[in-house]
Amino acid sequence: MPVKQAEFIVSNSDPALCPAPDRPEYAFIGRSNVGKSSLINMLTGRHSLAKISGKPGKTQLINHFIIDNEWYLVDLPGYGYAQVSKSEREKFAGLINGYLTSRPNLLCIFVLVDSRIPPQKLDLDFMINLGDRGLPFVIVFTKTEKLGVTKLQAMLETYRARLLETWEEVPQWFITSAVTATGREEILDFIRPLNDE
Ligand code: GDP
Repeated sequence: MPVKQAEFIVSNSDPALCPAPDRPEYAFIGRSNVGKSSLINMLTGRHSLAKISGKPGKTQLINHFIIDNEWYLVDLPGYGYAQVSKSEREKFAGLINGYLTSRPNLLCIFVLVDSRIPPQKLDLDFMINLGDRGLPFVIVFTKTEKLGVTKLQAMLETYRARLLETWEEVPQWFITSAVTATGREEILDFIRPLNDE
Protein backbone atom coordinates (compact mmCIF):
# COMPACT_ATOMS: atom_id res chain seq x y z
CA MET A 1 0.00 0.00 0.00
CA PRO A 2 1.55 3.33 -0.99
CA VAL A 3 2.16 6.14 1.45
CA LYS A 4 -0.88 8.42 1.58
CA GLN A 5 0.48 11.34 3.50
CA ALA A 6 4.04 12.57 3.98
CA GLU A 7 4.83 15.85 5.66
CA PHE A 8 7.99 17.58 6.70
CA ILE A 9 8.00 18.50 10.39
CA VAL A 10 11.32 19.88 11.51
CA SER A 11 15.05 20.09 10.75
CA ASN A 12 17.45 20.61 13.56
CA SER A 13 21.01 20.09 14.68
CA ASP A 14 20.08 19.31 18.28
CA PRO A 15 18.60 15.88 19.06
CA ALA A 16 16.82 17.44 22.03
CA LEU A 17 14.71 19.43 19.57
CA CYS A 18 13.40 16.41 17.67
CA PRO A 19 9.62 15.84 17.95
CA ALA A 20 8.36 14.08 21.06
CA PRO A 21 9.03 10.33 20.64
CA ASP A 22 5.33 9.58 20.43
CA ARG A 23 5.36 7.43 17.28
CA PRO A 24 7.57 4.66 15.89
CA GLU A 25 10.57 6.09 14.12
CA TYR A 26 12.83 4.87 11.30
CA ALA A 27 16.08 6.60 10.39
CA PHE A 28 17.89 6.61 7.05
CA ILE A 29 21.62 7.16 6.87
CA GLY A 30 24.53 6.54 4.52
CA ARG A 31 27.46 8.15 2.82
CA SER A 32 26.89 11.43 1.06
CA ASN A 33 25.56 10.83 -2.43
CA VAL A 34 24.49 7.25 -1.69
CA GLY A 35 20.99 8.10 -2.94
CA LYS A 36 19.27 8.69 0.41
CA SER A 37 17.13 11.63 -0.64
CA SER A 38 16.11 9.83 -3.80
CA LEU A 39 15.17 6.73 -1.79
CA ILE A 40 13.09 8.74 0.67
CA ASN A 41 11.26 10.43 -2.19
CA MET A 42 10.73 7.08 -3.88
CA LEU A 43 9.39 5.47 -0.69
CA THR A 44 6.98 8.28 -0.01
CA GLY A 45 6.01 8.79 -3.64
CA ARG A 46 6.95 12.47 -3.42
CA HIS A 47 9.25 14.17 -5.90
CA SER A 48 10.97 16.53 -3.54
CA LEU A 49 10.20 15.68 0.06
CA ALA A 50 13.91 15.19 0.70
CA LYS A 51 16.22 17.42 -1.25
CA ILE A 52 18.39 15.65 -3.80
CA SER A 53 21.72 17.08 -2.87
CA GLY A 54 23.70 19.21 -5.24
CA LYS A 55 26.37 19.69 -2.58
CA PRO A 56 27.18 16.42 -0.86
CA GLY A 57 28.13 16.57 2.77
CA LYS A 58 26.78 20.02 3.41
CA THR A 59 23.58 19.21 5.25
CA GLN A 60 24.25 18.40 8.87
CA LEU A 61 20.67 18.35 10.02
CA ILE A 62 18.30 15.77 11.40
CA ASN A 63 15.12 15.98 9.31
CA HIS A 64 11.86 14.59 10.64
CA PHE A 65 8.91 13.71 8.41
CA ILE A 66 5.61 12.25 9.51
CA ILE A 67 4.16 9.49 7.36
CA ASP A 68 0.44 8.70 7.28
CA ASN A 69 0.20 10.30 10.72
CA GLU A 70 1.57 7.00 11.96
CA TRP A 71 5.38 6.96 11.93
CA TYR A 72 8.38 9.24 11.71
CA LEU A 73 10.80 8.99 8.87
CA VAL A 74 14.14 10.56 9.76
CA ASP A 75 16.63 11.73 7.19
CA LEU A 76 20.02 11.81 8.92
CA PRO A 77 23.00 13.67 7.49
CA GLY A 78 25.29 11.81 5.08
CA TYR A 79 28.68 10.72 6.35
CA GLY A 80 32.07 10.17 4.78
CA TYR A 81 32.30 13.23 2.60
CA ALA A 82 36.04 13.54 1.93
CA GLN A 83 36.25 17.30 1.99
CA VAL A 84 35.12 17.97 5.55
CA SER A 85 37.52 18.91 8.31
CA LYS A 86 38.28 16.76 11.35
CA SER A 87 36.28 19.09 13.58
CA GLU A 88 33.27 18.83 11.25
CA ARG A 89 33.56 15.05 11.31
CA GLU A 90 33.62 15.09 15.09
CA LYS A 91 30.61 17.40 15.16
CA PHE A 92 28.83 14.98 12.87
CA ALA A 93 29.69 11.97 15.08
CA GLY A 94 28.42 13.86 18.13
CA LEU A 95 25.18 14.74 16.38
CA ILE A 96 24.52 11.18 15.22
CA ASN A 97 25.45 9.64 18.55
CA GLY A 98 23.30 12.16 20.37
CA TYR A 99 20.41 11.29 18.10
CA LEU A 100 20.88 7.51 18.31
CA THR A 101 20.98 7.54 22.10
CA SER A 102 18.03 9.86 22.62
CA ARG A 103 15.21 8.20 20.65
CA PRO A 104 13.46 5.42 22.56
CA ASN A 105 10.98 5.17 19.66
CA LEU A 106 13.69 4.41 17.07
CA LEU A 107 12.70 0.98 15.77
CA CYS A 108 15.17 0.54 12.94
CA ILE A 109 18.04 2.30 11.18
CA PHE A 110 18.28 1.85 7.42
CA VAL A 111 21.96 1.98 6.46
CA LEU A 112 22.23 2.78 2.77
CA VAL A 113 25.11 1.55 0.65
CA ASP A 114 25.75 2.14 -3.03
CA SER A 115 25.50 -1.23 -4.76
CA ARG A 116 28.10 -0.23 -7.34
CA ILE A 117 30.85 0.25 -4.76
CA PRO A 118 32.62 -2.67 -3.05
CA PRO A 119 32.17 -2.97 0.74
CA GLN A 120 33.73 0.04 2.44
CA LYS A 121 35.29 0.07 5.89
CA LEU A 122 33.45 3.24 6.80
CA ASP A 123 30.03 1.65 6.20
CA LEU A 124 30.96 -1.63 7.87
CA ASP A 125 32.37 0.21 10.91
CA PHE A 126 29.17 2.20 11.17
CA MET A 127 27.09 -1.00 11.15
CA ILE A 128 29.39 -2.71 13.66
CA ASN A 129 29.00 0.28 15.94
CA LEU A 130 25.21 0.03 15.71
CA GLY A 131 25.37 -3.70 16.40
CA ASP A 132 27.67 -3.18 19.41
CA ARG A 133 25.16 -0.74 20.83
CA GLY A 134 22.25 -3.08 20.27
CA LEU A 135 20.60 -0.73 17.79
CA PRO A 136 18.51 -2.56 15.18
CA PHE A 137 19.52 -1.87 11.61
CA VAL A 138 19.05 -3.21 8.10
CA ILE A 139 21.05 -2.59 4.93
CA VAL A 140 19.63 -0.91 1.84
CA PHE A 141 21.50 -1.35 -1.43
CA THR A 142 20.86 1.67 -3.64
CA LYS A 143 21.05 2.31 -7.40
CA THR A 144 20.80 -1.42 -8.16
CA GLU A 145 19.22 -0.86 -11.59
CA LYS A 146 22.69 0.24 -12.68
CA LEU A 147 24.04 -3.29 -12.24
CA GLY A 148 22.99 -6.30 -14.26
CA VAL A 149 21.65 -9.33 -12.41
CA THR A 150 25.01 -11.11 -12.50
CA LYS A 151 26.96 -8.15 -11.15
CA LEU A 152 24.37 -7.54 -8.48
CA GLN A 153 24.56 -11.17 -7.33
CA ALA A 154 28.36 -11.03 -7.27
CA MET A 155 28.27 -7.84 -5.23
CA LEU A 156 25.82 -9.37 -2.76
CA GLU A 157 28.06 -12.40 -2.35
CA THR A 158 31.05 -10.15 -1.66
CA TYR A 159 29.00 -8.26 0.91
CA ARG A 160 27.73 -11.43 2.49
CA ALA A 161 31.29 -12.69 2.98
CA ARG A 162 32.40 -9.40 4.56
CA LEU A 163 29.40 -9.25 6.88
CA LEU A 164 29.92 -12.83 8.00
CA GLU A 165 33.36 -11.80 9.28
CA THR A 166 31.48 -9.91 11.99
CA TRP A 167 28.08 -11.54 12.36
CA GLU A 168 26.93 -15.12 12.37
CA GLU A 169 24.04 -14.20 10.12
CA VAL A 170 23.88 -11.38 7.63
CA PRO A 171 21.66 -8.49 8.66
CA GLN A 172 18.45 -8.17 6.68
CA TRP A 173 18.92 -6.23 3.46
CA PHE A 174 16.84 -4.61 0.74
CA ILE A 175 17.63 -4.25 -2.96
CA THR A 176 16.44 -0.86 -4.16
CA SER A 177 16.42 1.60 -7.01
CA ALA A 178 14.93 5.06 -6.86
CA VAL A 179 14.73 5.00 -10.64
CA THR A 180 12.58 1.86 -10.94
CA ALA A 181 11.02 2.03 -7.42
CA THR A 182 12.46 -1.41 -6.70
CA GLY A 183 12.24 -2.22 -3.00
CA ARG A 184 9.49 0.24 -2.13
CA GLU A 185 6.84 -2.31 -1.22
CA GLU A 186 9.37 -4.48 0.60
CA ILE A 187 10.56 -1.62 2.81
CA LEU A 188 7.04 -0.34 3.52
CA ASP A 189 5.90 -3.90 4.27
CA PHE A 190 8.81 -4.22 6.69
CA ILE A 191 7.98 -0.96 8.47
CA ARG A 192 4.23 -1.26 8.85
CA PRO A 193 4.02 -4.43 10.95
CA LEU A 194 6.71 -3.07 13.30
CA ASN A 195 4.51 -0.04 13.84
CA ASP A 196 1.73 -2.30 15.11
CA GLU A 197 3.84 -4.26 17.57
P1 GDP B 1 22.05 11.67 -1.04
O1 GDP B 1 23.19 12.64 -1.03
O2 GDP B 1 22.42 10.38 -0.38
O3 GDP B 1 20.74 12.23 -0.53
O4 GDP B 1 21.84 11.24 -2.57
P2 GDP B 1 20.82 11.79 -3.65
O5 GDP B 1 19.48 11.18 -3.48
O6 GDP B 1 20.92 13.28 -3.69
O7 GDP B 1 21.44 11.13 -4.96
C1 GDP B 1 22.80 11.31 -5.34
C2 GDP B 1 22.93 11.05 -6.84
O8 GDP B 1 22.62 9.69 -7.13
C3 GDP B 1 21.93 11.88 -7.66
O9 GDP B 1 22.59 12.25 -8.86
C4 GDP B 1 20.80 10.91 -7.95
O10 GDP B 1 20.11 11.21 -9.14
C5 GDP B 1 21.55 9.60 -8.06
N1 GDP B 1 20.68 8.46 -7.67
C6 GDP B 1 20.01 8.32 -6.52
N2 GDP B 1 19.32 7.15 -6.49
C7 GDP B 1 19.55 6.54 -7.67
C8 GDP B 1 19.12 5.29 -8.26
O11 GDP B 1 18.37 4.49 -7.69
N3 GDP B 1 19.61 5.00 -9.49
C9 GDP B 1 20.47 5.83 -10.14
N4 GDP B 1 20.90 5.45 -11.34
N5 GDP B 1 20.88 7.01 -9.63
C10 GDP B 1 20.44 7.37 -8.42
